[in-house]
Amino acid sequence: MIRFDRVSKVFQGKPVVDDLSLHIAEGEFTVLIGTSGSGKSTTLKMINRLIEHDAGKIYFAGEEIHKFKPQDLRRRMGYAIQSIGLFPHWTVEENIATVPQLLKWPRARIRERVTELMTLLHLEPERFRRRYPHQLSGGQQQRVGVARALAADPEVLLMDEPFGALDPVTRLTLQKEIARIHQLSGRTIVLVTHDIDEALGLANRIVLLEQGRVVQQGTPLALLTEPINDVVRDFFGRSD
Ligand code: ADP
Ligand code: MG
Repeated sequence: MIRFDRVSKVFQGKPVVDDLSLHIAEGEFTVLIGTSGSGKSTTLKMINRLIEHDAGKIYFAGEEIHKFKPQDLRRRMGYAIQSIGLFPHWTVEENIATVPQLLKWPRARIRERVTELMTLLHLEPERFRRRYPHQLSGGQQQRVGVARALAADPEVLLMDEPFGALDPVTRLTLQKEIARIHQLSGRTIVLVTHDIDEALGLANRIVLLEQGRVVQQGTPLALLTEPINDVVRDFFGRSD
């Protein structure tokens, strides 16, 4: 579904993603993990062309991503981030409906889809539909952010530390929702986190980044039981 072939990105003369190659299969839940500054967000944003790569090739659905218009890519890939970025003067319903509106879905279909997603994410539709973001808790706002990313049924869901700012209980609840959505939909998901338990709990495959390079990628079990070096061993050792 997504492939990086020796991709690099330089910011101010410094390589932040360095000769990165990786494969993300359709339907797979991939977690990009690494310390702060290891290039996780940059890698994610190159997938939907929020950041353009400098060297190498990135493919989506078999085609180089340059062949897609950025807005087409972003319709086919939902994107949810820690700071959520809800439109403050729009209601929950309007926020979730952003992409379907752009695609000019009929009004009844949009309404139905919003209701469906709110139910899926345990936001009672009749209670929350007309609220504004400031009338919601952090966890509820985060759910709206995820619902918005899923609204037009994207082929890929990209998430950058989507639960980072939440208390542990809400975080766990939302992790469960995401795991359930993945099971139900079989959608390809790429999630960025620096939280080891989150990675181990959600991923089919983990990619450990360090200074813009892949240290090791594989199943959670493989990284835990067959770390290729001390960097991997130390990284996962920290959760004990
Ligand atoms: P992570 O998400 O793993 O914390 P990032 O991908 O955000 O890491 O950043 C990787 C490195 O690139 C960091 O050193 C960061 O300071 C740098 N960086 C990210 N975005 C920019 C930018 N727009 N301009 C300059 N440097 C940047
Ligand atoms: Mg980041």
